[in-house]
Amino acid sequence: MDWAKLGFSYRKTNYNVRCYYRNGSWGELEVHSEETIPMHMAASCLHYGQEAFEGLKCYRCKDGKVRLFRVADNGRRMASSSEYLQMAVLPVERFIEAVHKVVSLNEEFIPPYESGASLYIRPFLIGTGAQVGVKPADEYLFVVFVSPVGPYFKGEGEITMCLEHTYDRAAPHGTGHVKAGGNYGASLTAYVESHKNGFDGVIYLDPKEKKYIDEVGAANFFGIKEGTYVTPESPSILPSITNKSLCAIAEDMGLKVERRHIPYQELDTFEEAGACGTAAVITQINNIFDPQSGKTYKFRTGADTWSHKLYQRLVDIQHGEAEDKFGWVTTL
Ligand SMILES: *Cc1c(COP(=O)(O)O)cnc(C)c1O
Repeated sequence: MDWAKLGFSYRKTNYNVRCYYRNGSWGELEVHSEETIPMHMAASCLHYGQEAFEGLKCYRCKDGKVRLFRVADNGRRMASSSEYLQMAVLPVERFIEAVHKVVSLNEEFIPPYESGASLYIRPFLIGTGAQVGVKPADEYLFVVFVSPVGPYFKGEGEITMCLEHTYDRAAPHGTGHVKAGGNYGASLTAYVESHKNGFDGVIYLDPKEKKYIDEVGAANFFGIKEGTYVTPESPSILPSITNKSLCAIAEDMGLKVERRHIPYQELDTFEEAGACGTAAVITQINNIFDPQSGKTYKFRTGADTWSHKLYQRLVDIQHGEAEDKFGWVTTL
């Protein structure tokens, strides 16, 4: 495997781990090697969007150990997504156990230290019970698979984004805060149009007033100015574990942290801007184009930035090379 050339895409590995919910309870963890799922054609996930997913990574480190980052937080978030979508809730301990199991079984696919790649872990939960009327299913399937991945965004981690005035990814009191596949289905038109226009993606505005910055597609937004890390406060964004971690790291590094509405015109005053999430890690944004005004907001990028310092500290914690003072990391 040419680890350095990996993009962010699916690669077959040896095993995936599954767990069925039937007759009101969860079964044992099962190990499978096939990539397909046999399913009833009336399964609720296929018709009524009963699907939630998670994404996390594990890293092979300098000391030879394999580290996972905040896996319990992913387990808790999947539980809250499941509740909102009226799906069976997998206990967090079982979630963690399944993640450990799938990683151990696919150890040969964990990219080597300093290859720039990592092993992406994709847990998801679907309603499998047959349902023609709209109501929650009575059967569910939880699956975790893994895939070795490289960077999410191409282009040396510097991206050019476009403000999205036309489409929303979520409604004001909808599922924006839930990690549901349906949000992504709803975002694909904006995604495809922005790529056709030469951008790396869109920055969504708040769906109610269209005044404030909401999200960067599949990542949270942050900006930096005057020694302050600023990130949107909004009920329609996904609570990113990476962003939560960066807020703690930023504070620890002496930055002020603000979670608040960010009117998009305020972009003018930001020195730096970035997208953060498990897949994006921190990806620096160099330009944001506003098609309504024709204006391009420009930001500092490169190694001599707060964004880079935050990135470095985060990655060092994830690889066991900086003190894990917040207790985020577990070894396999
Ligand atoms: C998963 C996701 C993120 C990033 O969350 P992390 O926990 O940091 O990986 C951000 N926005 C959306 C819409 C997401 O689905």
